[in-house]
Amino acid sequence: MSLFLEPRLTLRPTPADTQPLPARRGWLEVICGSMFSGKTEELIRRLTRARIARQRVEIFKPALDTRYHEQDVVSHNQTSIRSTPIQFASDVLLLGANCDVVGIDEAQFFDSALPDVCNQLADRGIRVICAGLDMDFAGRPFGPMPALLAVAEFVTKVHAVCVRCGDPAAYSFRLTASAERVLLGETDSYEARCRACFLEGQAEKAALD
Ligand code: ADP
Ligand code: MG
Ligand code: ZN
Repeated sequence: MSLFLEPRLTLRPTPADTQPLPARRGWLEVICGSMFSGKTEELIRRLTRARIARQRVEIFKPALDTRYHEQDVVSHNQTSIRSTPIQFASDVLLLGANCDVVGIDEAQFFDSALPDVCNQLADRGIRVICAGLDMDFAGRPFGPMPALLAVAEFVTKVHAVCVRCGDPAAYSFRLTASAERVLLGETDSYEARCRACFLEGQAEKAALD
C-alpha cells in the first residue's frame, strides 16, 4: 500500500512572456477497491503526510454516511481524521478553495458532478485525493467512480482479503437480500470476497429466490 509515492507540489515555470500559470500544479489521485480493502486507511495516510509537510488539508465525506461518526472519517482499523460532511459534490468548490490538498472519502455516494468538481480543483493547483468503492454489491461500477478513474492522473486499486478463501478480494458481497443500491452496513451486512467466492454467493442467493 505504501508503494504510492506522493508527487511533490512543485513550482511551475512561468516564462515572463506567457500567461501566468497557477503557482502550484494540481492533480487527481483515486484510491478504489472493495469494502475493507484499506481505502480509508490509505487516504488518511496520504493526508497525514501532507499535514506533516505543512500543507493545508481539508477532508470531505457525504452527509448520508454517518455509520461510524458524524464528522470523522474512520477506517475499519479505527484510525480517524476530522472531516466536513457535505451533501453535494459542488460544495467542495467553495469549502476546499483555500487548500493545498483536498481529500474525499466514500466518493461513490456523490452526484455525477464530482469528476468535474475534482478537475476544477486540480486545474486551480490543488492536489485532490478521492477514495471510494469502484463496484456496488452487484459488481456494477458505482456512481461517479468510473468517470473519476478516467480523469485521474494516479489510480491505486487496493484489495481486501476474501473472508471465504483468503485470496485477494475485489468484491463487496452483500449478505442480506436487499436490492437497494445504498445499504449502509458493516461486517453484519457485507463480506469482502474474491471473484470465485462472490459468484458462488450470488448463485446461492439466486437459488433461494
Ligand atoms: P475501506 O475504507 O476500504 O472499507 P478501511 O481502510 O476502513 O477499508 O479498513 C481496512 C482495515 O479493515 C484493514 O486494515 C483491516 O484491519 C480491516 N479488515 C476487516 N476485514 C478485512 C478483510 N476481509 N480484508 C482486509 N482487511 C480487513
Ligand atoms: Mg472506507
Ligand atoms: Zn475467495
